[in-house]
Amino acid sequence: METILGIDLGTTNSEVAIIRNGQPYVLPDDDGQPILPSVVGLDAQGKLIVGRAARNQFVLAPERTVISIKRKMGEETRVNLGDQQYTPQEISAMILRTLKQRAEKALGHEVKKAVITVPAFFNEAQRAATREAGELAGLDVVRIINEPTAAVLTYDPHPPEMQRLLVYDLGGGTFDVSIAQVEAGVVEILASHGDTHLGGDDFDQRLLDHVADRFLSEHGIDLRDTPISRSRLLRAVEDAKKALSFEAVVQIEEEFIAEKKGLPLNLKLEVVRAEYEALIEPLLVKTLSCLDQAMEDAQLTANQIQKVVLVGGATRTPFIHRLLQERLGRPVHSEIEPDLAVAMGAAVQGALIAGIDVGPVLVDITPHTLGIEALGEIDGMLTPFYRAPVIERNTPLPATRTESFGTISDGQDQAQIRVFQGESEDTRDDVLVGQFKIEGLAKVEAGNQILIKLALDLNGMLNVTATERLTGLSRHVTIDNALERFRTTERTDAIDRLDALFGTPEDEQFEDQEYGDDEDRILPPSAYQVLGAVASEEANGTPEQRQAVQFGQSLISKAEQCLPEANPEDASELKALLTDLRKAVEKRATAEIHKIGTEVEDILFYMKDN
Ligand code: AMP
Repeated sequence: METILGIDLGTTNSEVAIIRNGQPYVLPDDDGQPILPSVVGLDAQGKLIVGRAARNQFVLAPERTVISIKRKMGEETRVNLGDQQYTPQEISAMILRTLKQRAEKALGHEVKKAVITVPAFFNEAQRAATREAGELAGLDVVRIINEPTAAVLTYDPHPPEMQRLLVYDLGGGTFDVSIAQVEAGVVEILASHGDTHLGGDDFDQRLLDHVADRFLSEHGIDLRDTPISRSRLLRAVEDAKKALSFEAVVQIEEEFIAEKKGLPLNLKLEVVRAEYEALIEPLLVKTLSCLDQAMEDAQLTANQIQKVVLVGGATRTPFIHRLLQERLGRPVHSEIEPDLAVAMGAAVQGALIAGIDVGPVLVDITPHTLGIEALGEIDGMLTPFYRAPVIERNTPLPATRTESFGTISDGQDQAQIRVFQGESEDTRDDVLVGQFKIEGLAKVEAGNQILIKLALDLNGMLNVTATERLTGLSRHVTIDNALERFRTTERTDAIDRLDALFGTPEDEQFEDQEYGDDEDRILPPSAYQVLGAVASEEANGTPEQRQAVQFGQSLISKAEQCLPEANPEDASELKALLTDLRKAVEKRATAEIHKIGTEVEDILFYMKDN
């Protein structure tokens, strides 16, 4: 069978994929790297270099290096490379030829055909230029397809029924969001919007400015002023940015990055994820307005979209997942490597053309979100049962993520770490998979940071580590077979409700079974702002009272939401109970709150069952 390559010819990076055993596979270079930076250059000896070597020399030899040529495709222009001038098609052909050679080396035979992807917004001239680049590279371009179309094909070329997907694509230098409809291997793009000058590179720039400003105020030297220190800093912040997708805190360290009065200056700085997120938030808000625009153009609402798919390396940023989940009210899919998904989809398209059978890409994922119980807000109401997600569902395995939490009271010397699995923000509706206590914390002010690392392997072994950032004090437990346990002990709604009513079942596997009181609680980072509220409440009541009040408040809000669906009899009983419950909450009457609350829960339970 003839091989048709799938090629993602990107602004920042390019990849080539083939079909192997019915599955798309991105071919790596000799060093095992699947990504080829879309950079072309001449080295000091005038030899052509493509990829990482060219990217590495860009800062020092811009006159011998061409980056982001995709932005010029379709224009009647020339770019300089050494003392020669080339059309954008010729430069792109050098990248395509490198990928073709890579594929031929891996396959051991010549390859002549390819499917190449382009952005949905590319016009005819840009598409024609891409086709020409392929031909110059010795490839017969059997089809040019849109990048979002390729992403859709990677996720599922043949859904059982018509599906609408939202593809959010944030690469190094460009962003677009598309709404696609797929049925029987045919993808239609209903709407597409984007920003051709927005991507992960802008995140690097924001972080670079932040770090350079701090260095400037500390040492009076601007690292942006010299190309070498700027380039070293850029590399360091990009690495830090990538690490912040998995870690809550990263160290940026560069030795001898500048010199002052003949003495070397080192850069050593810590960046906390929340701080980084504040830097990039304005950029992400822009992407959300594009998303709104695309939805409006397609005349669709969020509940008419069946799947949200993330592509482009920059979508590994967890903040993006959170924002999209909030905006669209559904989990996002990023289980297929986001910077490889487009090339894979191009290979799937090639297989469909060649009549080769391909299935949806298979990846091992965690089917449920893993999170930590903390004091936080659900529907605007403070509750001790808030589940802060750490490893989101659909994350490819193995997965390791760290989140930072804070103690809630001054002098809090221990914290109860409870790990839950499930999709509800309320831990009472999720499954407890393990818990332990970290004791001997430094007696410092509230907000003492505890880093919680969850590492889940392919066999479902979950390692949980809690580390006090200030002192390095650490506590670790291993939870055996977390995935399997969940599958086999998966509970019905009714059992969950019973657990919530009668307390969590005992499990001999876990240490420190008894639930600590409020003093053991922790806060997720997003809830630091409620510290003040918690502190002032502390002055007004005992931990039991506060817990009862939070329980009562969250129940009132839940019951209010269920009221419209209640039959007249249940509704009037529920309303009367809620009036009493509000009074009990106001008086902070712990026993009364629990008594009435149990009756309210009973009604809600039977309503759900009927
Ligand atoms: P692409 O053009 O799709 O290859 O995306 C490249 C962009 O993704 C660059 O800005 C990378 O720095 C960024 N990127 C790659 N890995 C990560 C990561 N783990 N977290 C955040 N951004 C990343």
